[in-house]
Amino acid sequence: MLLDSDTQLNQKSYYEASVVRQAPELPLQCAVSADVVVVGGGFAGLSAAIELAQKGFSVVVLEADRVCSGASGRNGGQVIVGFSSGQTPIEQQLGAGQARLAWDMTIESIALIDQRIAEFGIDCDRVAGYLHVADSARKARLLETDMKTLQRDYGFASEFVSGDNTQRLIGSKRYCAAAFEPVSGHLHPLKYGLALADAARNLGVRIFEHSAVRDMQRGATLRASTDAGVVSARFGVLAGNCTLCEYGPRVAPEITPRIMPVGTYMVATAPLDPALCRRLIPSNASACDNNFILDYFRFSADHRMLFGGGVSYSTMTPRRLAQTMGARMCQVFPELKQVPVDYVWGGFVDISMNRAPDFGRLGQNLYYLQGFSGHGVALTGLAGRLVAQAIEGQAGRFDLFARLQHRPFPGGALFRTPSLVLGTLYHRLRDAL
Ligand SMILES: Cc1cc2nc3c(=O)[nH]c(=O)nc-3n(C[C@H](O)[C@H](O)[C@H](O)COP(=O)(O)OP(=O)(O)OC[C@H]3O[C@@H](n4cnc5c(N)ncnc54)[C@H](O)[C@@H]3O)c2cc1C
Repeated sequence: MLLDSDTQLNQKSYYEASVVRQAPELPLQCAVSADVVVVGGGFAGLSAAIELAQKGFSVVVLEADRVCSGASGRNGGQVIVGFSSGQTPIEQQLGAGQARLAWDMTIESIALIDQRIAEFGIDCDRVAGYLHVADSARKARLLETDMKTLQRDYGFASEFVSGDNTQRLIGSKRYCAAAFEPVSGHLHPLKYGLALADAARNLGVRIFEHSAVRDMQRGATLRASTDAGVVSARFGVLAGNCTLCEYGPRVAPEITPRIMPVGTYMVATAPLDPALCRRLIPSNASACDNNFILDYFRFSADHRMLFGGGVSYSTMTPRRLAQTMGARMCQVFPELKQVPVDYVWGGFVDISMNRAPDFGRLGQNLYYLQGFSGHGVALTGLAGRLVAQAIEGQAGRFDLFARLQHRPFPGGALFRTPSLVLGTLYHRLRDAL
């Protein structure tokens, strides 16, 4: 079901329209062996592959479609510090000391992006700066408290403004408070992801596209089978996001119930007058509100408004998507009412129950990375680094995350979506307050 609706979402995104992809890699058509088989060629899988190859492991990446055709090539491009869950569940489960280490690793995940941009000479329109915005007095108080807590407990500084001062940071009357921080930011995710794939190839990683893994036989030697080939490997990394087990229910059925595929959508306008862009977001930061069902937006390098938001828990693409998203955007920026929307697309995020990332092992040698919960642009890079360190024998930092407990969504495969919809309706009502 997910795959069908994903196809509906597969209208050409602004990102796909602004890159030239190389010809597809050939599908796997024989038996090969490697030290590590990576399932999934998004940010997480490619990051793991790069780090492993740099450590001297031979690596094969199996990608069901094209590299970065999933969430990694279609997201908001917002490079965000921290976790979607916030620090609270991390602190509750791991204690203050370990939560601090986890927080520091999210800062490292942003530095890692910049390190790779420099190391591999990646041109991906990277911009620093992030705006958190609030659209009611209650959410302004929440934002101020969150920012003060981050400053007090983690030394993370931001500039908080409210009332009329808000317009200094964002040219929208919808918001009554905002906080600017310079650490997070944005980039063109598909340019970045395709460059990661090139870097991986240059390091000797073998990438096979259109090679969905249908079965993963476990044991001291793993055997990842596609329709026409098989990879034997000592270690495996599952980085397939929401669709991992849609391709083969025997790949890792035990981890699927702990994530929920949630559809989120984006539009890109026609290029705007740069002076208007500077009026709307003077810092050119990426921006996001603090609603449960959030809006996130920023400008592209060619001055388009890239506006994302909305969610669908049914895995079906909402009807009249361009109009709905356009209307949402104009509630924030009424100046854009007459501006044509050139592109509309969407994708699925893999949310976990507590919105914290879900990393771990199945047996001794099969690792998984999931549950980025809409915060994966930066965190996937770190996840790849941690899994490579664990495979090399330095598992301390990976295990810090693996200790986080995750519950399955209630209701099993059939009913977890309806129960989440009910939960979301509640939060939608709260957002309106
Ligand atoms: C519209 C949208 C906006 C978003 N905005 C942001 C944002 O602004 N900031 C942010 O931090 N995060 C954002 N996210 C989330 C972020 O994009 C993801 O967390 C991140 O890209 C996940 O990377 P990944 O490598 O785990 O998954 P993916 O990029 O989805 O890659 C997984 C890959 O695995 C492949 N695969 C799956 N199963 C198999 C199989 N059995 N065999 C072989 N291959 C398989 C898939 O084809 C896919 O290419 C957004 C997501 C979406 C959809």
